[in-house]
Amino acid sequence: MRRKLAAGNWKMNGARAALAEVTALAGAHPAPGCEVLLCPPATLIAPMAEVAAGTPVQVGGQDCHAKTSGAHTGDIAAAMLVEAGASHVILGHSERRADHGETDAQVAAKTQAAWDAGLIAIVCVGETEAQRDAGETLAVIGAQLDGSLPEGATAATTVIAYEPVWAIGTGRTPTLEQIAEVHDFMRARLEARFGAEGTGMRLLYGGSVKPSNATEIFAVSNVDGALVGGASLKAADFGAIVAAL
Ligand code: PEP
Repeated sequence: MRRKLAAGNWKMNGARAALAEVTALAGAHPAPGCEVLLCPPATLIAPMAEVAAGTPVQVGGQDCHAKTSGAHTGDIAAAMLVEAGASHVILGHSERRADHGETDAQVAAKTQAAWDAGLIAIVCVGETEAQRDAGETLAVIGAQLDGSLPEGATAATTVIAYEPVWAIGTGRTPTLEQIAEVHDFMRARLEARFGAEGTGMRLLYGGSVKPSNATEIFAVSNVDGALVGGASLKAADFGAIVAAL
């Protein structure tokens, strides 16, 4: 049985004052029916972990470096995220693939580094609108899954987030049939490579999830939760998504 996961990605948003949202979220959902995770900017990981201590809210990073230390100005090692209080890290988000040119091979190296430090990796995949229009969606997702996951991925260490690039922050979502097609495809691909571990891996949908569409998306085959951007910033919105899981 896969435990559902509601993961929030604050991206480059939020200052210390925003930690009041964590207190509000935990107060409104002291015993959620799913795992709850918030991934704030790096500067807020440690203070958020303090605020979230003793609550069901877990804290994660939004990226890590593949190396454990060294001359990598501006980067953060996976063990540093752990020390700050993170349990998870988002890797290969389409904004990092686009803004920083991250390749599948780099995402795989970061995923290995995250595992080595004891973090759960949330590995993101997703097609662009042009790729969907060209009928390439499943080929793109398959290649990203193959290339971004090292050998040895397990259900305990790895979560996959399917995030169509054209649905992120746009208010547009795929149809439920399109989500099911990709999630069923990912499950089969992961099972073919990782066996029972692929059956146990959580598959999140991400891209314009909000309280008004969460329930129908969570009913889709092989959707085990969501990676939520904009709607994770406010406790009321994210709490409604948590309640829908
Ligand atoms: C995201 O950035 O991972 C995301 C899904 O964003 P949004 O929910 O705002 O579309």
